[in-house]
Amino acid sequence: MTQRTVLTAAAVALVALAGTGASFAGKLRVVATTPDLASLAREVGGDAVDVTALAKPTEDPHFVDAKPSHIVTLNRADVLIEGGAELELGWLPPLLENSRNTKIASGAPGRIVASDGVRMLEVPTTFDRSKGDVHSLGNPHFMIDPVNVRTIAANMAEHFAQVDPASAALYKANLAKFDTKLDAKFAEWQKQLEPYRGARIVTYHKDFVYLAERFKLEIVEELEPKPGIAPSPSHLAKVIETMNAKGARVILVQPYQNRKTAETVARQTFAVVLDVPQQPGARNDTQTYFDMMDYLVTTLATALGAQK
Ligand SMILES: [Zn+2]
Repeated sequence: MTQRTVLTAAAVALVALAGTGASFAGKLRVVATTPDLASLAREVGGDAVDVTALAKPTEDPHFVDAKPSHIVTLNRADVLIEGGAELELGWLPPLLENSRNTKIASGAPGRIVASDGVRMLEVPTTFDRSKGDVHSLGNPHFMIDPVNVRTIAANMAEHFAQVDPASAALYKANLAKFDTKLDAKFAEWQKQLEPYRGARIVTYHKDFVYLAERFKLEIVEELEPKPGIAPSPSHLAKVIETMNAKGARVILVQPYQNRKTAETVARQTFAVVLDVPQQPGARNDTQTYFDMMDYLVTTLATALGAQK
């Protein structure tokens, strides 16, 4: 059986069991595709929402393992938050189709697309999906730019208020609190990275582009030849040459990327490999968006500082 067939069969059984059901303890049931979006939803929704993330913090957001339980979760949702820009193209559409929930249908107030209102980077002029590029609508890893996160949180508050007008004032107040904290943290992160303006770094996937743009770092290469395409020996040879020529000594990787490949490159370039997950919860000490960014910025600043 294909994955789609399995999901369809499971959906028929599980959705019948689930029914429509009342919201848990009167709270808005919010489902986010990834833990970073879920963390933001908790900040904005506070006590009025019950938030679930579909992807695990250690899973590649492009390639999440779709499970029948995800269909039940989506069937019961009042709100769905997705990254958009085809981040979830490989796994979300069949789950949604099987969840049969009009509240979270495309265009409904219960459907939030994080990329709406975000200034997308790397939008290609021609569609290149045939070659395996998973960023054919532009780069969807925009959550590590705090400026984007401000826009996305506001979008969430607006949708939450539409779906749940009784708590509109709460969402507004929570958003104001969140913005204040974000502004203060953003200033801290800028200060931490300011000494390393123009520093050259390498990443595994094109997933640090927004961070580099915001904090003025230079990404000289990616280990993947194209987003979603595994590194080839010929491409890695080129990466090593570029790193040595440009003096790039830091390689950033995420939990689901091939650390061995990164280490092989690091050995030939006198570089360090940094594990800097972009999802809250990937490490025990980084359960929120703020913790995750704190860890990311501090780890990067420390490594760059050691090389000065
Ligand atoms: Zn990607």
